[in-house]
Amino acid sequence: MQLFEKAPAKINLSLDVLYKREDGFHEVEMVMTTVDLADRIELNLLEDGSIRVESESRFVPNDERNLAYRAAKLIKDRYEVEEGVRIFIEKNIPVAAGLAGGSSDAAAVLRGVNRLWGLNLSTDQLAELGAEIGSDVSFCVYGGTGHATGRGEKIKALPAPPPCWVVLAKPPVGVSTQTVYQNLNLEGALHPDTQGMIAAIQRFDFDGICDHVGNTLEGVTLKLHEEVGQIKDLMHHAGADAVLMSGSGPTVFSLVDQDARAQRIYNSLKGFCHEVYMVRMLGYREDT
Ligand code: ATP
Repeated sequence: MQLFEKAPAKINLSLDVLYKREDGFHEVEMVMTTVDLADRIELNLLEDGSIRVESESRFVPNDERNLAYRAAKLIKDRYEVEEGVRIFIEKNIPVAAGLAGGSSDAAAVLRGVNRLWGLNLSTDQLAELGAEIGSDVSFCVYGGTGHATGRGEKIKALPAPPPCWVVLAKPPVGVSTQTVYQNLNLEGALHPDTQGMIAAIQRFDFDGICDHVGNTLEGVTLKLHEEVGQIKDLMHHAGADAVLMSGSGPTVFSLVDQDARAQRIYNSLKGFCHEVYMVRMLGYREDT
């Protein structure tokens, strides 16, 4: 038996870091949405009980360090599943980019092995399992648009924002989320208006969404990698309606409501960095 799952990238429309908790994690508040740039996950049933993971990307480990492997292993152990799975990841989302590619692969594997192994777990149960793998995995299990709190694993669904173009550009640097948090000085950091963002989404107000994009981590990554600021400037000059770094970076995205301007931004960035994508905001949960 073989099946496929789509694993879309996410962007942070807003990301606020509130404080450092006693367990070492940061308490965050984020508004996230999915975009139509996705990895493709192929799952094949293995009768011998083993879990194997493969991808053609040289940036992704093909062993138990892979988040997709860890997702399958977690479910297999927790529910004492005898069968195994071969996971093939067609990697389209840039790695270590702030787009939650690994988390989305893990979430897709949770959804996929639930079907492949006939476990009938609910989406909420899969999201709870996801939180054991990583903070962004729960959101990726649901997809769509969500308001995340805690360390990012507590998700409340939001309506889909107005559809628009999203131009993504990743400079040729990898950013470790850990390094960014280590360099974050919460005193004096910028904090986005999360409630303002949520209200704009609920009003289906594209301009309001653009007015409220914000990311507490952006200032840190801007200092570490000057390319991030250069991309932001280029996108502004080319006419983006809003520009923000996603997650801990280094990917920067533009929101654009007009086709011609989105194309202009894409073209102006294409000459500057290699990894540029012009995609649609997905925004809605695909199971609804
Ligand atoms: P986030 O936005 O959640 O911080 P990210 O987009 O910055 O995530 P990922 O692309 O998920 O980062 O990769 C982070 C690290 O995880 C990489 O160093 C990579 O080696 C490792 N990794 C493990 N499994 C995967 C996977 N399936 N896809 C991508 N990276 C993976």
